[in-house]
Amino acid sequence: MSHTEPFQHRTRTKTVATVGPACRHPEMLAALIQAGVDVFRVNMAHGSRSEHEQVVAAVRQASADAGRPIAILVDLAGPKIRLGELFQDPTECAVGAEYVFVRGTKASHAHELVSNYERLIDELSPDNAVMLADGTVSMTVLDKQLDSVRCCVTGGGTIRSRQGINLPGAKLSVPAMSDDDLDNAVWAATSEIDFVSLSFVRTPTEIRQLKELLRSHGSRALVIAKIEKREALENLEEIVAATDAVMVARGDLGVEIDVSQTPVMQKRIIATCTRLRRPVIVATQMLDSMHHSRRPTRAEVSDVANAILDGADACMLSGETAIGQYPREAVEMMNRIMRSTEQELQDTATSAASPAPARDVHPITLAVTYGAAQIAEHLDAKLVVISTRSGATARVKAKQRDFIPTIGVSDSEATLRQMCLYWGITPLPGAPVHDGPQLRQFIDDWGRADGCITRGDCVVFVTGSEFVPKAHNLVIVHEVE
Ligand code: PEP
Repeated sequence: MSHTEPFQHRTRTKTVATVGPACRHPEMLAALIQAGVDVFRVNMAHGSRSEHEQVVAAVRQASADAGRPIAILVDLAGPKIRLGELFQDPTECAVGAEYVFVRGTKASHAHELVSNYERLIDELSPDNAVMLADGTVSMTVLDKQLDSVRCCVTGGGTIRSRQGINLPGAKLSVPAMSDDDLDNAVWAATSEIDFVSLSFVRTPTEIRQLKELLRSHGSRALVIAKIEKREALENLEEIVAATDAVMVARGDLGVEIDVSQTPVMQKRIIATCTRLRRPVIVATQMLDSMHHSRRPTRAEVSDVANAILDGADACMLSGETAIGQYPREAVEMMNRIMRSTEQELQDTATSAASPAPARDVHPITLAVTYGAAQIAEHLDAKLVVISTRSGATARVKAKQRDFIPTIGVSDSEATLRQMCLYWGITPLPGAPVHDGPQLRQFIDDWGRADGCITRGDCVVFVTGSEFVPKAHNLVIVHEVE
């Protein structure tokens, strides 16, 4: 395995970067991997199928060239409600001005608005808030007729055709996945995509349906629930239990709920993910000013650090890498902040006492994984190696938040890529996982070449025998020859 960077220098917290015109060229993808990207996100709200296919092929090639598993996350747009064609584009909305939502796809005068959601007019009620353009323009519903809803502007600003509409608190009957989402999910399933995220999740059933759809097309992609609606916060525990991973999608969340509540909701979502052992990504505006600046603001640096201190497994860059002027600098900066923050975490870390049980983790796996970390600490082991088919044991290890360098090995390429999201786990391809002595020899050779182990060092292996099906029940301590 060749490295772009020594294994020990990698950040434990993972970096997700959104692909777009600013970084989809193969050379830039390679530079971003070098700078620390673990997962590339393809946002299905933008671009064509052929562009998405090119991105997937380019990321796979860049990953092979770097000799490192890199995961791909396909982000489904979900039931995003948008403005239709404005009569005047853009339109300045002044406080106190009145606008009327009507049915149809194109407004016929300057104070008329239309949307892509046919039932909008039926489902809005007087006093509902209507937020436009990422919440920069707000309106309140005054009254409604059979085919129109009259609104008054309460927060003024500029709107443009096809910008998003958020309806905080309104219960909508819009389906969880549009025809486009279904089509994109099937494409992701048949393109060996590693993670598929669903926007505007409201219930655990929506997650289960997406999982079933992916499985029915032979995909092992892990599903990520984007938490960005009040209803998702109301059903948080059930959604986190049903999903494989979570994204704190602060862009829409900060419009759907009072923006002042987003920091505490972020902490609540991360705490739930920590308890239920689900990887969690914090997303949106993390280094926003780096769209146009080489340096982030102090507040942005604090935001990334605080997400890590909250317990995030990964931090995401959106426009910063997709359309910004400094994609590489943004990834480098994010990794710099991760390193500084993790140093502080490590200095103050105390290893977790006894693990809280989780419904979907075999108690033997849980006990053995925690025991392995304690043995590793006692022996000052230089490396823990998790041998895993599905990645589940690596996920358990990640949530322990210890700083013992950890390698994940698997006979599944998909699992290796999915481990790109797990905190502190470095996936290592090519290991002979089914033969204990050969695996130990492989790790000895690799570790010595990497410089992370030397003769006499201890390496702790976590693996399974056939005696306890579906559980990891073996810890092997190996002294490097
Ligand atoms: C968000 O709303 O924060 C988010 C990540 O989703 P999108 O970029 O699709 O709006």
